[in-house]
Amino acid sequence: MNIKKANLKWKYALTKLDTSKITGIAVHHMAHPVWGVKECHDFHQNSRGWNGQAYAYEVDKNGDVWEIRGYEHKNGGLIGKLNDTNVSIVFQGDFDLEQMDHIQYMSGVWMIAYLRDKLNIKTIAGHKHWQKTSCPGKNFPLDMMITEANKQFIQSRCQFSHPDGVWDVMDRHDYAQDLYRKWADSYKR
Ligand SMILES: [Zn+2]
Repeated sequence: MNIKKANLKWKYALTKLDTSKITGIAVHHMAHPVWGVKECHDFHQNSRGWNGQAYAYEVDKNGDVWEIRGYEHKNGGLIGKLNDTNVSIVFQGDFDLEQMDHIQYMSGVWMIAYLRDKLNIKTIAGHKHWQKTSCPGKNFPLDMMITEANKQFIQSRCQFSHPDGVWDVMDRHDYAQDLYRKWADSYKR
C-alpha cells in the first residue's frame, strides 16, 4: 500500500521529533460523517488557530492512507507532552454513529502494522485511553484492528508457514502490546 502525501500548507514549519522516543499509537475518528484531509486541515487551522491538521496520518473511507504530519513530526492529536511520544492516526467518519467498512478497516490494520515496523511501539490505544472522550467512537472496531495489525506485523518478520496455531495462542491471551514487538524483533533479520 502507498501512503499518499497530503501536501498541506502549514502556518509555520513542523517540529521534528526524536522518533526513538515514540512509544504509542493513538487512534482517533473525525467525529464527522464526511470530513476528510482538507476540511479537517481548514478547521484546525482557521477555527482552532492551530498550525494545521493535528494528526500524523488519516485513513479515508475509501481506504486511502494520507500522510498529514508524518511520524517524524510532532502532531497534536493528544494533549501536551503526550504528543512527543505518540503518533495520532485519524479515521474519516463518525464511529459513534456509523460502522466501519472493510476497506477502511484493512487500511487501518496496514497503517498500524506499518508504524509498528518503523517505531518502538509499546501501546496502541484509542484516544479515550489518554483522555476523557468517546474518541474513536463506540462502534470503532479497535480491539479487532489492533489484534489484526499485531498479527500482520509479526508475520512480516517471522514468516510462519502455518501461523494459525500462533494466532490461536494470541487470541486466547491478553499479552501486553510490547511483547508483540519484542517477539517480532527477535526474528528481525
Ligand atoms: Zn481523538
